Amino acid sequence: MSHSVALERVSMVFGRGSGRTRAVDAVSLEIEPGEFFSILGPSGCGKTTILRLVAGFLEPTEGRVLIGGRDMRGLSADRRPTAMIFQSLALFPLMPVWENIAFGLEARGVDKRTRRRRAEELLELIALPGFADRRIDELSGGQKQRVAIARALAVEPQVLLLDEPLSALDLKLRQHMRAELRDIQKRTGVTFLYITHDQSEALAMSDRVAVMSEGVVQQVDAPRVLYDDPATPFVARFVGETNVFAGRVAAIADGMARIETGEGLLLGRAGPGIAEGARASLYVRPEAMAPARDDEGDNGIPARVERLDFEGAYGLLHARTAGEAPLLVAITSTGLGGAPAPGTRARFAFAPGNAVVLADA
Ligand code: ADP
Ligand code: MG
Repeated sequence: MSHSVALERVSMVFGRGSGRTRAVDAVSLEIEPGEFFSILGPSGCGKTTILRLVAGFLEPTEGRVLIGGRDMRGLSADRRPTAMIFQSLALFPLMPVWENIAFGLEARGVDKRTRRRRAEELLELIALPGFADRRIDELSGGQKQRVAIARALAVEPQVLLLDEPLSALDLKLRQHMRAELRDIQKRTGVTFLYITHDQSEALAMSDRVAVMSEGVVQQVDAPRVLYDDPATPFVARFVGETNVFAGRVAAIADGMARIETGEGLLLGRAGPGIAEGARASLYVRPEAMAPARDDEGDNGIPARVERLDFEGAYGLLHARTAGEAPLLVAITSTGLGGAPAPGTRARFAFAPGNAVVLADA
């Protein structure tokens, strides 16, 4: 079976001469049918450009875009098996909900009764039965969001393209809509290509995530793998919080690497592309660090606790090492009673299996 969407070494260059921007740089991706696939990266890294290349609003400077195994070159947006949801939603506020949903069907010559029936089926799907005759401006933000999704699904696209659709919503609604979107995607089986700069959104919803930086794909993996096994320093820092200890690789054996850092010799899993003697850094998550006794095992780092940020479910200890490196330790709130207080010194340690050593970029 062919991929739902495939990008083959796709590049997009805007402008000429000194104003040239390589927004997308030789990106290859393979997205499977029925997958919830996200592209995650900071603002300006090329996410929207990729979506527009798939939708057919742009033609790549180099490379190919395939949908369902078919080369999309020269095929205009309205002839591609895709539908797009914009951040603005672009609904018609005075028109009834059902007509908004069926809008794309009217353009395709579908008769009124069939349009109405199809709109009602989709209202069931998005859990808004009975809303057919309401007006858009009578709906809440989350309800409008769902109507926009129903409208996009009405034309039965193979691929739904979503460009940061939740970014205008408040946090509670955003979190609710994550589950809702994921649910709709699984029920319809339509491939979702979802763009976001919000890492927790990408981790919570996606089957797989491509992490991008400056037009380049850094890593494509399931959320858990991205978090536990970042392949590059950029991914380690962009996805979640991390402590970083820079140094030089002292030894590599059995998949583990010992690295000489300002905090002494530290041990972690050997990441891709490291070599003995080369510059590298060890990355370890704040929740993988814990206060430890002075004589307890490897990977102990003495530090002075400067501050505790209480964040509800957990507290974040901000500490500073002897070498003045910042150290972040996350402790669940139930364990905060026994944690070292600000102003005191303590030793923090981590299990080698919870740290990874990556070559410096
Ligand atoms: P993102 O969606 O990740 O924030 P974009 O894909 O919108 O990033 O933009 C990537 C880069 O390409 C940015 O530097 C942006 O300024 C540039 N860019 C995007 N569209 C155009 C355009 N039509 N003309 C010139 N430059 C553009
Ligand atoms: Mg964008």
